[in-house]
Amino acid sequence: MNNKEFQIVVLAKQVPDTHNVGKDAMKEDGTINRAALPAIFNPDDLKALEMALACKDALKDIMPVKVTIITMGPSRAAEIIRESMFRGADNGFVVSDRRFAGSDTLATSYALSAAVKKLGKIDIVFSGRQAIDGDTAQVGPQVAEKLEIPQITYAEDLLYVAEDEIVIKRRLERGVETVKTGFPVLVTVHGNANDCRPRHAKLLMTNKKACSVSEVLERQQSMEDMEALWAKKPFLKIEEWNADDINPDFERLGLTGSPTKVKSIENVVLTSKENKKINNSESEINELMKELVSAHII
Ligand SMILES: Cc1cc2nc3c(=O)[nH]c(=O)nc-3n(C[C@H](O)[C@H](O)[C@H](O)COP(=O)(O)OP(=O)(O)OC[C@H]3O[C@@H](n4cnc5c(N)ncnc54)[C@H](O)[C@@H]3O)c2cc1C
Repeated sequence: MNNKEFQIVVLAKQVPDTHNVGKDAMKEDGTINRAALPAIFNPDDLKALEMALACKDALKDIMPVKVTIITMGPSRAAEIIRESMFRGADNGFVVSDRRFAGSDTLATSYALSAAVKKLGKIDIVFSGRQAIDGDTAQVGPQVAEKLEIPQITYAEDLLYVAEDEIVIKRRLERGVETVKTGFPVLVTVHGNANDCRPRHAKLLMTNKKACSVSEVLERQQSMEDMEALWAKKPFLKIEEWNADDINPDFERLGLTGSPTKVKSIENVVLTSKENKKINNSESEINELMKELVSAHII
């Protein structure tokens, strides 16, 4: 990596589209049937990509800027790297290995931080606030801890960025906060932030053949032809890193590195029994409020 370039990393996750849940979406044991749901770009991560591209727009006239995507998941997650390149990202890495299976947020953030470290000098790491499948909002802050860099969470707007500082508006429960810091920093981007720009027609044409070795093998394309293309246009190769490539402590990966133990999974189906009709009278509303408070619902 070129140390004179301003280096931005976006952590992006490919997730099952939980908004389009059909009847096959849940297995009998209550776990997600990932094969039955279309895979999409995690919505908050698209917003993180937009903030990264906005930084690139603001800085590119004063210095070279590179936006790199890192995604950990199966080899098909290369799709979201290609999608990012259509919108303005420069390149990306798929971090993929069976040894990551069973990772909880601690092991996931450990693997992601090891991948970020492998890139060398980094100025800003952007992540989404939350992934729509795991939904914990833990991974961004944990990556910052492991990289030992400051973090700005819940970023809603990029107010200013220059070569040595960034000013971010944060969304809090009861208002907003403006934070200024230098680099390096990790920023987790809130769902209220700007939508990502659409695909750019020229970037789509330039990058449409971008793919990884696994994708070439899966599509049964000629590896020789692709090697020839990558030799001429190296940016079209989406690199894949396995566990060995990120120099990890193997004890901290996958199930071994995951202290979270899932005790049981319950499939909650709300039934009409849980509905209650009340009249629009003060006494009945007060009664309902008392019930909700005593049941710790509100
Ligand atoms: C015991 C246990 C076992 C599990 N086993 C598996 C398993 O085998 N397979 C599986 O798919 N999941 C598994 N999970 C779920 C997995 O832990 C979470 O999906 C993962 O840690 C990310 O957490 P999250 O989805 O809550 O992300 P959040 O913390 O909500 O995500 C915040 C942000 O972090 C970044 N981010 C998160 N994950 C990634 C990623 N993979 N790549 C790039 N950026 C990312 C994104 O920017 C995202 O917006 C398991 C969980 C537990 C508790």
